[in-house]
Amino acid sequence: MQTNFSAAQLADPHVAESEKILRKCVHCGFCTATCPTYVTLGNELDSPRGRIYLIKDMLENGRPADKEIVTHIDRCLSCLACMTTCPSGVNYMHLVDHARAHIQKTYKRPLLDRLTRTVLAFVLPYPSRFRAALKLAGLGRPFIGLFEKLPALKPVAAMLRLAPSSIPAVSAMALPGVHAGQGTRKGRVAILTGCAQSVLDPAINETTISLLTRLGVEVVVPEGEGCCGALVHHMGREEAALASARRNVDAWTRAIDQGGLDAIVITASGCGTTIKDYGFMLRLDPAYAEKAARVSALAKDITEYLAGLDLPEPLRKPGTVVAYHSACSMQHGQKITRQPKELLARAGFVVREPREGHLCCGSAGSYNILQPEISAKLRDRKVKNIEATGAEIVATGNIGCITQIASAAKLPVVHTIKLLDWAYGGPKPEGVSDSTMVAAE
Ligand code: SF4
Ligand code: SF4
Repeated sequence: MQTNFSAAQLADPHVAESEKILRKCVHCGFCTATCPTYVTLGNELDSPRGRIYLIKDMLENGRPADKEIVTHIDRCLSCLACMTTCPSGVNYMHLVDHARAHIQKTYKRPLLDRLTRTVLAFVLPYPSRFRAALKLAGLGRPFIGLFEKLPALKPVAAMLRLAPSSIPAVSAMALPGVHAGQGTRKGRVAILTGCAQSVLDPAINETTISLLTRLGVEVVVPEGEGCCGALVHHMGREEAALASARRNVDAWTRAIDQGGLDAIVITASGCGTTIKDYGFMLRLDPAYAEKAARVSALAKDITEYLAGLDLPEPLRKPGTVVAYHSACSMQHGQKITRQPKELLARAGFVVREPREGHLCCGSAGSYNILQPEISAKLRDRKVKNIEATGAEIVATGNIGCITQIASAAKLPVVHTIKLLDWAYGGPKPEGVSDSTMVAAE
């Protein structure tokens, strides 16, 4: 694509980066076919190619964002299916991140939208605030129907619908410390405790630590780590996202200096995509560029890390039929497609892949709160495809997808690590019935 940026505009490294990306796009439109918002809404401006044109026009003309561009960029899930499809290697992720930061700086959203986003950014990345908000959600639940009738309050209704009725206790395993590996030492890793996942399902990381230590891997929970910053990053709140990235880079650099790390293990693929991008996000910060690149190189999804270990034979072979839902951040963001399915199959599960596996389930960080209608359409389409597999359980590697799919599916939705842990001798995952998980030992 031809671009017309002035030399002065290109002196801004963010604009220069976006210009390089824009020049790679050849307008072929292949990406439209796999874009969930284009598939759902049928509007070219809600396709990757349409959004690329809008972003180009805004940046080239040095214009502040307007209502039209904000509408279409807000509808983008950042699922990155377009990047998997694009034959020209267009880095849509970095382009839309830049557009979102530009929107945040130049556009004044309506009051309620601003308020909702501020509350989300203030609450979700902080486990104690999120926990308190979930407790309060019980008070608002009787008013969901009322909120749903008022367009401006639909995000509040969506939040209340997604809030679980009971909240698990705080996990002692999430506290800073070292969990020693058993037997012959196979490695040493840090684990991201994260934010929302640690409140909604702390058993995911507890299970991960238990399985890794049984396999001989020492697991460090570093002091000072926190939210990866993805949530605010996707809202265009760059400074907040970079502050989260710097804090985590510092925490993991200390862990590296204190005993080395083979990997930084992440159990939520949405966080993994962002942490693997820290090197890019902090490339212009001389104090952090090198450290951030090192952290990104060490970041691994738990299935990616397990696939590289010399695993023993599983203790149980369940033969249960599992529908594997590949989160967008797993398959498009991190290009991890093979490992989770192979690990499940090796552990004795019969793995089935739902149709339209490339399409997002509509979770996408806070998208299911900010765009509840499109999100619900995508969720229902996803659940229909999953249920058509005839599976007894759904496995996936991202807490957002677990919450989203479980809000509409009849079958249990669990993190992949819980099924693997069960096969390797751990307890049966909570919420899964005894009859489903009968091992053929
Ligand atoms: S990130 Fe997803 S929703 Fe956004 S343009 Fe690409 S395919 Fe469409
Ligand atoms: S597939 Fe790639 S090159 Fe083709 S229109 Fe989409 S982004 Fe541009």
